[in-house]
Amino acid sequence: MLVTHLECLRCGNHYSMDPRAYLCPRCGTGGERADPGILDVHYDYVAARRSLPFLARNDVFRYMPLLPVRGAAPVLPAGATPLVPAPKLAQRLGLAALYLKDETRNPTRCLKDRATAIGATLALESGATDVYCASAGNAAISLAGFAAHLGLRCHVFVPSYASPTRLDWLNRFGAQTHVSSGNYDQAFAEAEQTGTENRWYSRNCAFNPFLVEGKKTCGLETAEQLPGAAADLVIAPVGDGCTLAAIGKGFREALELGIARRLPRLVGVQAEGVQPMVSRYRGGVPAPDAETAASSIAVRRPRNALRLLGELRASHGEMLAVPDAAIAAAQQRLAEDGGIVAEFTSAVTLAGLEALAARESLAGKTAVLVITGGRLD
Ligand SMILES: *Cc1c(COP(=O)(O)O)cnc(C)c1O
Ligand SMILES: [Zn+2]
Repeated sequence: MLVTHLECLRCGNHYSMDPRAYLCPRCGTGGERADPGILDVHYDYVAARRSLPFLARNDVFRYMPLLPVRGAAPVLPAGATPLVPAPKLAQRLGLAALYLKDETRNPTRCLKDRATAIGATLALESGATDVYCASAGNAAISLAGFAAHLGLRCHVFVPSYASPTRLDWLNRFGAQTHVSSGNYDQAFAEAEQTGTENRWYSRNCAFNPFLVEGKKTCGLETAEQLPGAAADLVIAPVGDGCTLAAIGKGFREALELGIARRLPRLVGVQAEGVQPMVSRYRGGVPAPDAETAASSIAVRRPRNALRLLGELRASHGEMLAVPDAAIAAAQQRLAEDGGIVAEFTSAVTLAGLEALAARESLAGKTAVLVITGGRLD
């Protein structure tokens, strides 16, 4: 394993690798208002470069030198999703090229499976029998599927508004489902209390520093797949912030290893109703607290804000908010002109790109939309 150390994103303290490491002991959860002390995994990139080329495998373990695991576990195969050209959409927006990173092809139809593959591997490596997470649905379904396949007991905590479709997936996978009386943030608090008490293995990106390492393989893969090894823009939905930040980390590592030619500008998109990361990116301008149908990103208290802000700075990126009506129209256009059925949340990417195109010329540019999930409710 080429992990050198873990570094707190808040105070900068270093720690040695431990598969059960969660938060920085000094910063902890940050209490009610401050950011938690989430750890970031660092590697020996000189050694990683020497171990190239990456493994000839069709899953996240292709990137083994850049993963915090001892070996590839026999988990459901996540990753190795196609980068699909979308010429009709590119033309409509005046882009040179547009690609859809089709994460709907993961085992449970969502990018979350990349993180679960690493979380499940570490759960096995640390001898856990029970795993848990809080989730608006996708992370829970992902964990439930991987746990079913491995024979681990799975406990999931979902908000009151989790759709019958999502609950049905959880039931089919045999998860112990706790439906909260409140929103995602309340389900999160309930999960942490019960999970910590029982010492279950946590699949919450707000605590577990290793899950983002699974998600970053989406960035590494995209960098390898892009013709010319470069894009100008990579656009993803933002809830907690971990997904887009992870993709940014993947691209930085691809650049470090000489796989990407340059860093794309990261653009994070939220729904207008729940846009705390947009507000924070703009220096704290107050944002409305309303509802949105983009339930997979309706996170009112993002825990990975510091990680995402760091990646946005590194890539000269930015955050945008789009109204639900624009998301609905974009979801339909993705199907009609892109041939892909995205879940409502994932369509914020096209709505965000359209908002960008209305503001500035995208002539000559190459963009990637990360179609994070494909489950319709
Ligand atoms: C979880 C999720 C996201 C956002 O990921 P965060 O890490 O919470 O920012 C985006 N799209 C879908 C479909 C998701 O399930
Ligand atoms: Zn710290």
